[in-house]
Formats: sequence, C-alpha cells, structure tokens
Amino acid sequence: METIEADIVIIGGGPAGCTCALYASRADLKTIILDKNPAVGALAITHQIANYPGVSTEMSGDALLTLMRDQAVEFGADYRRAQVFGVDVQGDWKTVYTPEGTFKARALVLASGAMGRPASFKGEADFLGRGVSYCATCDGAFYKGREVAVIGSNKEAVEEAKVLTKFASKVHWITSSDPKSEDLDAQDLISQSNVQHWSRTRLLEIDGNESGVTGVKVKNSSSENHQLLSLEGVFVYMSGSKPITDFLGDQVALKDDGGVVVDDFMSTTIEGVWAIGDIRNTPFKQAVVAASDGCIAAMAIDRYLNSRKSIRVDWVHA
Ligand SMILES: Cc1cc2nc3c(=O)[nH]c(=O)nc-3n(C[C@H](O)[C@H](O)[C@H](O)COP(=O)(O)OP(=O)(O)OC[C@H]3O[C@@H](n4cnc5c(N)ncnc54)[C@H](O)[C@@H]3O)c2cc1C
Repeated sequence: METIEADIVIIGGGPAGCTCALYASRADLKTIILDKNPAVGALAITHQIANYPGVSTEMSGDALLTLMRDQAVEFGADYRRAQVFGVDVQGDWKTVYTPEGTFKARALVLASGAMGRPASFKGEADFLGRGVSYCATCDGAFYKGREVAVIGSNKEAVEEAKVLTKFASKVHWITSSDPKSEDLDAQDLISQSNVQHWSRTRLLEIDGNESGVTGVKVKNSSSENHQLLSLEGVFVYMSGSKPITDFLGDQVALKDDGGVVVDDFMSTTIEGVWAIGDIRNTPFKQAVVAASDGCIAAMAIDRYLNSRKSIRVDWVHA
C-alpha cells in the first residue's frame, strides 16, 4: 500500500485541524489533513453558529467548516478522506495508518475532536476486534458473504452501511427512530436489496462465543419482546462527548477526563506530537477555541521543524 511523506499530518478536519493546516501551509510546510468524514464532527453537525467572529450569524456549522477547509486547501493543504486506526509516535518520523494508505510525517497533530463514546452496549467491549468494529472501510472486507448489523442513524452510519452492502450478504440497519423521508442517502440505503432496516429498534446486547460475535438482541419500541438476529459483525456509529483517542493506544499521556495532556504550545508528552481542539477536553468547547489551538500548534511546529533541518526530506516544495 502507498506510503506518503509530509512535514505535518493532521488527524481530523474540524476547525482545529483546518486552522492548523491553514497556518502550516502558509508557512510552506507540506501538510496533509486526514478526516474520516467531514459531516460528523462537532462543528459539522452544528445547525447554526452565531458566535464565530466575523461570519454571518445565520451560518451553519457545516458552511463555516467548508470555508475553513477550502481556505486551507487553497493555501496548499492536502485534504484526504481517511479514517485513522493506528499511529506509531516513536522516533523522528511519526507513522499514521489508514485503510487508504500509510502516512509519515515529522510532526503529527491530533485533532479528532470529542464526539467519541465509551463502549456501552452489553458485549461491545468484550467483542471489540472480534466482530465489533467502528470502521467499515477498515474491516468490511472481512465480512464478505456474511450478515452484519449497523447501529446508528447519523451520516457516518449511513455511509458506512453503504460500504458494507458491497461485502455482506445482508446488512441489518438498526435505528432508534425513522430516518426522514427527505434524507435521500438513508432512503437509498434502505432501497438496497441486501439491507433490512429495523426502525424504532434498540440494540440490547451483542452476543458471541470464543470465536467472536454470533448475534445481537434487539427490541422494537412497539413490541414487548426482544428479537435475536444471527450475524457475525456489528458496526457501531453513535456519537458521545468523549475525546477520540482510541487510535493512540497508550502512546500519549491523557488526563483523568480522557483529554490529551498538552503544554502552552499544544505539544503533547511525546516530542513531535501536538494535540488541539476538543480532543484536549477543554472546559470551553467552542469553534473559536479549537481554531486558536490550531494556530498555536502550527506556529510551534514551524519553529520546531525549522530548528531540525538535518532531518532528510524526500520532496521539493513547489
Ligand atoms: C451540537 C453542538 C453545537 C455546538 N454549537 C457551537 C456553537 O454554537 N459555537 C461554538 O463555537 N461551538 C459550538 N460547538 C462546539 C464546537 O463545534 C467544537 O468545540 C469544535 O467543533 C471542536 O473542533 P475540533 O476540530 O476539535 O473537533 P470536531 O469539530 O469534532 O472535528 C473533529 C474531526 O475529526 C474527524 N475524526 C474523528 N476521528 C477520526 C479518525 N479516527 N480519523 C480521521 N478523522 C477523524 C471527524 O470526522 C471530524 O471531522 C457545538 C458542538 C456541538 C456538538
């Protein structure tokens, strides 16, 4: 698989990541933003953002984020859709793993926000990696010809369920409410021949044995009894408010509240790794705070990289 090198790789394309990319690109640093889905971050789902300085008070979070992303790309940032599932932060070059390829950078920026959640369904943590997954683009191919369930109704759930329809014999889409009729992506998913939609249905537990997931227990809101579905994969897409740090393992120090530890320059406990925005679990989670973090990190990284010119580079800046 392709390996791409850069000065900076930024994980997350929210206001923190896009602002960092804007400043880094303007400093002539080769900058890559990796974002799993531009529609699912905290700013992207904000209906109206009335308190971001200098923009219309009618603006949606998604429109503001598009402006930020476009501006970063205009100044040379390379924006890519990719879900990061692992990193290696040892040594001068930091490595980032995604299903779309491996990325190496001299500076790594963590900006994946705080829309995560702890594994909370019965059986979810027990079978994580043995049938439970949060990434269809990473794991979908393992379920060729098998039955799987997708839990959740947000845009990420719909897109990931569509990926799974290419592999699974049947995709059980389990949502606690009815998708809106004007949600064309959701309606398109429901119309696929290998999708069974379980509306107004809750996941109760994930069952399995020593070889992995064997099924799920679900309950429809209008029914007294639960139902058992036999399947081998469960893909969970629910949002919460926990910093998204699962791809880090225990390589970077976290606070008791789950936020990444940083100093005044947004530098983590690992040299060459920065953390910005909601992933720090800041007491005031606001778009302007995340953008400010991104600016601070980019300027600190510029200073850091320019004092380490001895590191070999494999590209020539345009
Ligand atoms: C409902 C709601 C309303 C809000 N209203 C306001 C408001 O009115 N004003 C205000 O200032 N703030 C508001 N906020 C807060 C503000 O949106 C956040 O503080 C800000 O978006 C944080 O920016 P961020 O870049 O750290 O994270 P996010 O905006 O969450 O962006 C993180 C990005 O990382 C990506 N990502 C996550 N995991 C991975 C991975 N493994 N690989 C690759 N990419 C990944 C996500 O797809 C996402 O695009 C609101 C938040 C919410 C939830």
